[in-house]
This record gives sequence, structure tokens and C-alpha cells, in this order.
Amino acid sequence: MAPPTSRPIEGSIPPGAAPLPPDAGQAPHGRGRPCVITRRARFSASHLYRLPELDDATNQQRFGRCSLEPGHGHNYELIVAMGGPLDGDGMVLNLSDVKHAIRREVTEPLDFRFLNQAWPEFDLTRPEGRLPTTEALALAIRARLEAHLPLVGLRLYEQPDLWADVLAGPALDPMEAFLSIRTHFAAAHRLAREELSQAENEAIYGKCARPHGHGHNYLLDVTVRGPIDARTGMVCDLAELQQLVADLVVEPFDHTFLNKDVPHFASCVPTAENIALHIADLLSGPIAATGARLHKVRLQESPNNAAEVFAETPQLEMVPAALEALAAG
Ligand SMILES: [Zn+2]
Ligand SMILES: [Zn+2]
Repeated sequence: MAPPTSRPIEGSIPPGAAPLPPDAGQAPHGRGRPCVITRRARFSASHLYRLPELDDATNQQRFGRCSLEPGHGHNYELIVAMGGPLDGDGMVLNLSDVKHAIRREVTEPLDFRFLNQAWPEFDLTRPEGRLPTTEALALAIRARLEAHLPLVGLRLYEQPDLWADVLAGPALDPMEAFLSIRTHFAAAHRLAREELSQAENEAIYGKCARPHGHGHNYLLDVTVRGPIDARTGMVCDLAELQQLVADLVVEPFDHTFLNKDVPHFASCVPTAENIALHIADLLSGPIAATGARLHKVRLQESPNNAAEVFAETPQLEMVPAALEALAAG
């Protein structure tokens, strides 16, 4: 028998402690089992989209009101996802250490600051400087945090309808980011297959098969993916993306009876799943023309149900697990 050690191994049972229940097995307090944790932080900061090599008119044409002096601000919300095996205390890492690392590296240097001057990445007088867009800021925050925390990825909300996700990991393109926008539309639908009787449809779709339809206020999230531009800091032109979603989805879908007013749904049951798939089909080509790739469409039909379509990875087992951890943040 091995002699007792003078210091208990982390996570082992200290002398005199009650024995672990039998189902704790070989992993007291979950030690060694992997887990992802998230931590939220907030900061307020201002920024200005104005490239010194462009004249006023071109800055205004490219960046709209974001180019107006002296800038404008946002209340940012940051969600940091970290992963790893649990220690003997039942934690991935101590939340106090996480809080202090985020405060020291991110919120202290950025809160109530002008982003263009806060970090050298955003110094536009340098040739390698770039605009402090949401996605460029997310990449810069990742660069500050990855030395201190076991990052899985992070999400940065500039406002509730605009956010960026970046993943961590050596295999990734270091300039790649995901950019999401949220919009909404109201529409009516009826769930029924024409070839079936009313009784058969009600057996499948329940109240949703009632003959005169019903409606929802749909929330639509569109996520694109791509490397950020070295100078503009953008995955794609945000205004162009917003216009595509407005022109191709919101305008033709809003205040319609989908089954009758959107030709695709004359022969395809407009379930949330089918609407999300159709939106992905409508958007993927035009978004590719902007230089980004459509990554995901998420359509929330009610507070209780949503459908998500991964345009790039239709096989469900290929959905990036790390990004999903962020979505739950
Ligand atoms: Zn802004
Ligand atoms: Zn419905």
C-alpha cells in the first residue's frame, strides 16, 4: 500500500470528510470532465468610421452616419465562452479569476473610451489600423483574452440586433468572424398539406391546420461568416446586408398570408423550418456576392419555438459546437 501523501491531491477527499456517494465514481466533484462556461461583461464606448485616405463624401457614402464627427457610442455586451476539464473544486476555472481577467484586459481599457484611440489596432493613421467595427472589436478582445483564459469563443453585442461571434482555436483563420443581424416581420400561415383531408391535417398539425390561418411576429436572425477586411474591419458591408434581408425577405413576407402571397408556399407547408430554409435559399447567393458567406438563419416563431438552418453545414452533426455554446450565453 502506498504511503499517504502529506498534501491531498486537488479534488481528493480530505481526511475526515464524508465519503463520496457511490455514483461519483472516479471523478470526485466532476474532476476531469469537460464543460463550457460563459461570463458576461458590459462596457460603453464610442467610435467613428472615417478612413483618413478617403474624402468626406466617400467616407459618408461608404459608412453612412457612422462617419459623422465626432462619433457615436454603444452599450456593448460581451459574452466570453471558456472550456476545459473541471478541477477538483468542480469548476472549469475560478470565476473570480475570469472576472478580473476580463476587467483588466477589456472593460478597464475600453469602458467610456473612444475606441479609435483605445487600442493600436484601431489607430487609422497606421497602415495596419482598422475601423473598430463589432467584428474587428471582437477579434481584438479575443487577442487580449486568449493568453489568460481557455477561450472557446466570444460574442459581442453592439446592440440587441447586431452582434459578432469569434471562435478560438489554432486551426481557425485568425481574421474570421461571424456577424449577425436581427430583424422581424409579421405574417399569417396555415399548416396543411393540400393532398390531405382536413381531419388528416388536424391530426398532424393540430390547431395550426384550422382553415383560415393564424399569425406570428417572426424574429429573424441572419448570420454571415468571413474574414474581416484588413482596413474596414468588416466581414461585409453591413448596410448592404441589411438591405438584402429587407428586400428579399422582410418586404415580400411582412403582413402577408404566406401560403397565398409567397409563391414558394403555395406547394410547400410554411412551417417555421420551411420558412427558415426558404429564407436561407433566398439569401445565400446574394450574400455570397457581398464577399461573405451565409452561415445561419434562425427564425423564431413564438417565445416557445424557433428553427435554425445552417447554410454551410446542412448535416446537423457538423454544426460547430463551440458556436452553439455562445448562443446559449
Ligand atoms: Zn456604431
Ligand atoms: Zn403558426
